[in-house]
Amino acid sequence: MAVMKFGGTSVGTASAMRQVIAIIAEKRKSETPLVVLSACSGITNKLVKIADTAGAGRLEEALQMAGEVRQFHLDLVGELVGNEALRLELAAKIDAYVTRLERLTEGIEIVGELSERSRDRICSFGELLSTTVFAAALNEAGTHCEWLDIRQVMITDERFGFARPIEAICQAKTEDIIRPKLDSCVVVVTQGYIGATVAGKTTTLGRGGSDLSAALFGAWLHTDSIEIWTDVDGVMTCDPRMVPEARSIRVMTFSEAAELAYLGAKVLHPDTIAPAVKKNIPVYVLNTWHPESKGTLITDDPALLAGKSHGGLVKSIAVRKGQAILNIRSNRMFGRHGFMNELFEVFNRFAVSVEMISSSEVSVSLTVDDAVLDEPFIQALKALGDVEIEHKVATVSVVGDNLRLSKGVAGRIFSSLRNVNLRMISQGASEINVGVVVEENDVPAAVSALHCEFFAESQCAGIFEKPAGS
Ligand code: ASP
Ligand code: MG
Repeated sequence: MAVMKFGGTSVGTASAMRQVIAIIAEKRKSETPLVVLSACSGITNKLVKIADTAGAGRLEEALQMAGEVRQFHLDLVGELVGNEALRLELAAKIDAYVTRLERLTEGIEIVGELSERSRDRICSFGELLSTTVFAAALNEAGTHCEWLDIRQVMITDERFGFARPIEAICQAKTEDIIRPKLDSCVVVVTQGYIGATVAGKTTTLGRGGSDLSAALFGAWLHTDSIEIWTDVDGVMTCDPRMVPEARSIRVMTFSEAAELAYLGAKVLHPDTIAPAVKKNIPVYVLNTWHPESKGTLITDDPALLAGKSHGGLVKSIAVRKGQAILNIRSNRMFGRHGFMNELFEVFNRFAVSVEMISSSEVSVSLTVDDAVLDEPFIQALKALGDVEIEHKVATVSVVGDNLRLSKGVAGRIFSSLRNVNLRMISQGASEINVGVVVEENDVPAAVSALHCEFFAESQCAGIFEKPAGS
């Protein structure tokens, strides 16, 4: 038994869907998967816009976008489905969904208010539509499957927009509704991201929530694996657009994946896969366009880690752009207590989150998101000391569990960066990352230098893999 989750780009076009159909057919030879889908790429964004536009009273515009959602899915069916009768049947289903969407849109405009509850209902149509089209196409292509409305199983609390499952109910419903189908070898196609309250009101788990759906079902069914299919070769050693030599990482631990996500890498959000990792279910991040490549396995299972080469000093390099450095200098800091307290009180008051920090006796340097800096906040800081701001900087972080145990890493990092002007340095409290702050212009040079230092050919054998496309 396996959970296979396909993201928006994997179901965003007819050719992507065909690719997914082939992947499932192949899997079907050895296992019966629960297939969890996102909305087609771009559709959830459009639905959010429809809700906002209707909420703002611009009905015409909102309905125009709803019409685009209808046309998009009709076109998809036109391209994907051969059988005329099936096409008509799907067109009717699409129309029924979109008509409801339009009615809701009108309702929001009439009431003149957009609640989180209505927003969730509107956003739910993306997954309902993508799965309806996909399940029909999968059946037509010869892999028998059943479409399931996951709102019968994913029962959540009432936090619309960020709902969380009521585990005991979900677990029982999973056993009653999903397991018997998989046990009798029926592939199940269903929606990620959405659920319903006990009273049957539609909820969503929050943007990007379909990974969480997949991990939860993996955990509840205790599947052998969870596969997260995307459009990149698993988790990479760094952004391949920045360094063409980037490789995909074979195996990484949950803490490495989490650290990377926190530090700005575009890997899946670690909290979403936590339910699976806790139950020692291996999570694979795979590429729909290169199904033959091995992707990245994320696991904390010692047996799996030992079986694959989990070596490599550094696992990946993450970059977070759009940062600013704040240097605050004050003689009042020298030999006194309480200064940091006053300083953080200002951050608290203005709800500004600190990313990186380093301090000496008379100065503190912190990085924050450049976009949040405003005059009142800066004035409040100036009341404490001299404030200097450097805009347009980026943190470049080197991440790996083995950093904790190894000597000489800092030396290698800094000597490889000898030609780059480092504005700030920090070793994360987690001890599995070392970060430097550089000017945004210097990011490509810094990342290439680090990649060259830590991912030279000879250090990569068995641990990292060249992407299938290269
Ligand atoms: N379709 C939803 C979104 O775009 C959920 C997901 O794709 O994970 O946020
Ligand atoms: Mg997604």
